[in-house]
Amino acid sequence: MEYKKKTQDSEIQDSLEYAEGIINTVREPLLVLNGGLRVISASRSFYRIFKVKPEDTEKQHIYDLGSRQWDIPKLRELLENILPKTASFDDFEVEHIFPDIGRRVMLLNAREIYQKATRAKLILLAIEDITERKLTEETLARQAKELIRSNTELERFAFVASHDLQEPLRMVSSYMQLLETRYKDKLDSDAHEFIGFAVDGVNWMQTLINALLTYSQLGTKAKEFELTDCDKVVTRALLNLQVAIQEHNAKVTHGPLVTVMADSSQLEQLFQNLIGNAIKFKAKGQPFVHIAVEEKGDDWVFSVKDNGIGIDPKSSEHIFEIFQRLHSREAYPGTGIGLAICKKIVERHGGEIWVESKPGEGSTFYFTLKKAGANI
Ligand code: ADP
Repeated sequence: MEYKKKTQDSEIQDSLEYAEGIINTVREPLLVLNGGLRVISASRSFYRIFKVKPEDTEKQHIYDLGSRQWDIPKLRELLENILPKTASFDDFEVEHIFPDIGRRVMLLNAREIYQKATRAKLILLAIEDITERKLTEETLARQAKELIRSNTELERFAFVASHDLQEPLRMVSSYMQLLETRYKDKLDSDAHEFIGFAVDGVNWMQTLINALLTYSQLGTKAKEFELTDCDKVVTRALLNLQVAIQEHNAKVTHGPLVTVMADSSQLEQLFQNLIGNAIKFKAKGQPFVHIAVEEKGDDWVFSVKDNGIGIDPKSSEHIFEIFQRLHSREAYPGTGIGLAICKKIVERHGGEIWVESKPGEGSTFYFTLKKAGANI
């Protein structure tokens, strides 16, 4: 009998040491309470984080700890009402201002366990301090909201500005025409040439304003994403480019394409801009363009490869900016908005766009789109 009791005592001692070891190893503050909510033991992290000492903690009632700083209504509800009914709870969020460490947000997890030998109830209470994580989440959410607001404002500004600029431009253009027709015989050839330059300028500005307008409306006129067959989208883009394809005798091919979640008209515009550029910036021989797609993790990586004039790698980021071009209008027509539009469309779809090229060796434009079903 005596022997049996001794073995039992040493088993209890062993398991206590074992439990103590676990409690002191975990990073989260952990309290072990008895059924009467008095502290049996606390982890080292509890003392460190809440700046309290073992002699002021052990055997104390949880609500009496550190000038009653744990006497929190939500914790009371948890320990007195919820836990006895459920025997456990997870991720119960509690916010509290502590005298020494200030405002803290904590996630509480608790388990009721019964000791085999004595049937005494123990409560394990894990306290995860998520204050920093919460702060980061809140800051990120605030910044995201601010970004959306300033983006919308910028788009609105670009729209209003480009819209309002059109009216005075129309006025300049019509008075120039009036000047030309009414004073036809009174003006010398220089004057006619100058009027010609002014009209060209007006027309060019009109083109730029329209480009800006298209760019600014990419976000506001966007459609919901839907399952989109890229094969069909590329076919439509090629149809729109028919004249250029014939004019330059270009050969455009593509491998098997895939279905993605996208705004189909924007995707069509994206392919059209990239294929159009691949034809426009052709080298001496016949232009060849090939469109392909490869799988990479959660993404589809699309490529539009040409055998054109190529791009100096130094300019490979620059060309995606609005109105940035590497050539004169006389050498290659265009406004320099095409790739900025491509970038905005790809980013709106949660992807990335880039180019790999060397002058004289053709270019390959790549962009990624999330696979249908992947989170954006
Ligand atoms: P645009 O075509 O109106 O000039 P983009 O924004 O589409 O405007 O392109 C910006 C610049 O990037 C072009 O002016 C050209 O210098 C370069 N570029 C784009 N695509 C190609 C390409 N496939 N090959 C060579 N250069 C290109």
